[in-house]
Amino acid sequence: MEFINAFELAGKVKRGNISVIEIAELFNKKAKKCQEECNAFISLTPDICIKQAERIDEKIRKNEPLGLLAGVPLAVKDNIAVEGVRLSCASRILKDFISPYNATVIDRIIREDALIIGKTNLDEFAMGSSTEYSSFGYTKNPLDLSRVPGGSSGGSAAAVSYGASLLALGSDTGGSIRQPAAFCGIIGLKPTYGLVSRYGLVAFASSLDQIGPFGKNVIDIALLLTVIQGRDTKDSTSSTVIPEYPSNFLEWIAGKEKNKFNPGIRKWRIGIPNEYLQEGIEESIRKIFDSYTKKLSGYEIEFVNISLPLTQYGISAYYIVATAEASSNLARYDGIRYGTITKDAKNMMEVFTRTRTEGFGEEVKRRIMLGTYVLKSGYYDAYYLKALKIRTLLKRELDKAFESCDFILTPTTPSLPFRFGEKLDDPITMYMSDILTVASNLTGMPSISIPVKSENEKLPAGIQLIGEYFSEPMLLSFSRYLELINEES
Ligand code: GLN
Repeated sequence: MEFINAFELAGKVKRGNISVIEIAELFNKKAKKCQEECNAFISLTPDICIKQAERIDEKIRKNEPLGLLAGVPLAVKDNIAVEGVRLSCASRILKDFISPYNATVIDRIIREDALIIGKTNLDEFAMGSSTEYSSFGYTKNPLDLSRVPGGSSGGSAAAVSYGASLLALGSDTGGSIRQPAAFCGIIGLKPTYGLVSRYGLVAFASSLDQIGPFGKNVIDIALLLTVIQGRDTKDSTSSTVIPEYPSNFLEWIAGKEKNKFNPGIRKWRIGIPNEYLQEGIEESIRKIFDSYTKKLSGYEIEFVNISLPLTQYGISAYYIVATAEASSNLARYDGIRYGTITKDAKNMMEVFTRTRTEGFGEEVKRRIMLGTYVLKSGYYDAYYLKALKIRTLLKRELDKAFESCDFILTPTTPSLPFRFGEKLDDPITMYMSDILTVASNLTGMPSISIPVKSENEKLPAGIQLIGEYFSEPMLLSFSRYLELINEES
């Protein structure tokens, strides 16, 4: 059962070849072991998992139809609401908070018969790039226990990489799915903004946040995306535009023929932006990327040089927009409405200040202060408004680039997985981990990180593909093409 993918596993369950309770027991055991070795979880949910498995086995006995994720173990980042389970966001302020309802994505995966095995560790409120800013201890990278798994969805990426779960959900505000996917040697997709409902995702920066899938292969990513995407009236930013998938998309993408993924008579046109390979990119990453693109030139791919000069403003714009929205979103944690409340406060003001002082970690406080600062009257025009303008220009720049290419190819991260503590004392260096990923969030475009093998490097690295709005079916097709090329070598 170890090496099976989620798509195949669901197929076996549907054909009645495996008992779901056995799958649940096996993965509960694996999750427990993963927890002991890597601290990938904040809460394990073996009882829920067993109950769900019994319900599915019951359905099988009664010959009822099964869902797309029948019996597939799935881990959920602990900023996504699961009814009756702690929803901590890795924060002291929510350490005892139990979610009274399910996020829309959770309703959807349960409807399709998935098994929830636990809630995964993250940087507090998804702010960070290493999972070191969790108040539940840091998560270790299963591929090298002395290194970080990336962040903020480090727990979800580690759980899948370890094999404690076949699929996981994460959230990506500036790179938090793609960067940990790259660090843990797996695939992670940030969908087009609005494609997946944010209802039940604890808000960090609402105009950037998006839930997305982690998996070990493209078919599993396509499977989970198929389940979670789509219009949701509970989220006013949920899109009414849903990309058109070929009716047999999942079988099609699971196929082994490379050529049928070609967009037609011409080659795939892949844009390489020089600006993504300059300042701040480690030599090791540059080498891996160069040899990867060299390898691809032997296939049905035409490389196009593109120029994205606004890239250099991405990080500044991101950290202004993200902190501004965070400072507003996090105002709700006042000790009254949610979570823990300070003891022995003498008046209302003290309740607020002491609850927040005691409940938030250092990085979250830094962001609230930064966000409040950039929104202050007098500074608003100079910072926040300017960042919004950059956002519009970035979108135009990328739209223009897509006139000459199907996808943009870049490294996912500027460095290989780093060691614990390496970037902890210097927030700016930590923020630079996102230089290659934030543009997709600022513009709302979809992007995916795919692991690349490298001859001289033991540590994992990822390449990132950015696509046009709602280009997920094509993006996944091309990702599958690359996966088949990877399997060849
Ligand atoms: N690392 C980025 C940050 O700290 C992105 C976080 C995320 O995508 N949730 O803001």
